[in-house]
Amino acid sequence: NTQIIFSKVPTGLPKVGEHITVQHSDLDINSLKLNQGDILIKTLVLSVDPYMRGRMRDASMKSYSPAFELGKPMNGHGVAVVVKTANDNFKEGDYVYGMIPFAEYTHLPEQWTKVLQVRNEARDDHLPLPHYVGVLGMPGMTAYVGLYKFGQPKEGETIWISAASGAVGQLVGQLAKAEGLRVIGSVGDDKKSEYLLKECGFDGVFNYKTQDMDEQLTRLAPNGIDIYFENVGGKHLEVALAHANNHARFPTCGMISQYNLSHQEPVHNLMNIVIKRIQMCGFIVGDHAQEMGSEFVKRVTQMIKDGKVTYKDDVTNGIEGLPDALIGLFEGKNFGKAVVQVADQ
Ligand code: NDP
Repeated sequence: NTQIIFSKVPTGLPKVGEHITVQHSDLDINSLKLNQGDILIKTLVLSVDPYMRGRMRDASMKSYSPAFELGKPMNGHGVAVVVKTANDNFKEGDYVYGMIPFAEYTHLPEQWTKVLQVRNEARDDHLPLPHYVGVLGMPGMTAYVGLYKFGQPKEGETIWISAASGAVGQLVGQLAKAEGLRVIGSVGDDKKSEYLLKECGFDGVFNYKTQDMDEQLTRLAPNGIDIYFENVGGKHLEVALAHANNHARFPTCGMISQYNLSHQEPVHNLMNIVIKRIQMCGFIVGDHAQEMGSEFVKRVTQMIKDGKVTYKDDVTNGIEGLPDALIGLFEGKNFGKAVVQVADQ
């Protein structure tokens, strides 16, 4: 049974084999005895996400999501199938979604099963399984909550989305387009630009690594930006503040450029928040799941089925590839939502 272990707290970019290690252990599934309430799951897909870097910290430091336990399997959103059950809420063969340990098989105590939901549509709906941890999972809900609740989009407005081809960004852009906005994206790779322009209907995209951000925003958003969907932070935020219109909204989703730095980069023009009456609002998607979760799943599932939303998953096959897939997020290696396919069924 292969597991992915959090082995050391990193400074800077984590390394495979030092901070995250692949470990094999024996698990005899046939002779395994479950206590009342327990289940045994086989992992099918696992999501790797930027926030996991924040969980790779010393447990004494508090944050919104718990630190990973040293020496134990890491965990994250995933879909698994129930292989054995001693719990009335789960049947053998059920597909479950929620926080899943990074292991091929896991014997879960009753307490852990409480954070899992049965989502048999993932088994029965004939959409790609990775979609359930991406466009129809946590990142998709992040796009939905961030845009609608905190972006308050209005037809004719202009939105700029940073890290635009990723798990969250590609959906934000397509939802905004459907609301009649002018949609600008920024990415760190030309093939990502081409995808957004040709397949996701973005109006303009630039490569922040090879092009000057200020010049590109002047060119692509000559009337300024009304919404900046913040995924990156640092210099991107500074440029967004400079190009924002009065009363702009900045749904502040993440700042990935800062996650591996020991000291955050300064942003020099924060006074624009006052001068331009910008609403810069941070949010954590989990806080809004109760309120917006089912509306999100219903609407976005229908948009996918109707061909109104397209979504690119970047699938790594085999759990051994998980550490590289996770670290690759901070180097822009993923093209689309980074997902690890652990087993087919
Ligand atoms: P992505 O799928 O977009 O993957 C990360 C991408 O970020 C990379 O592919 C890369 O794209 C870009 N990137 C990485 N490092 C840098 C850097 N130093 N400067 C600029 N860009 C960089 O990730 P997600 O869509 O899953 O997440 C996007 C953001 O949303 C993150 O900040 C994440 O933390 C946040 N988030 C917040 C949630 C919340 O509840 N608030 C929930 C989910 C995500 P490129 O090649 O284009 O540079």
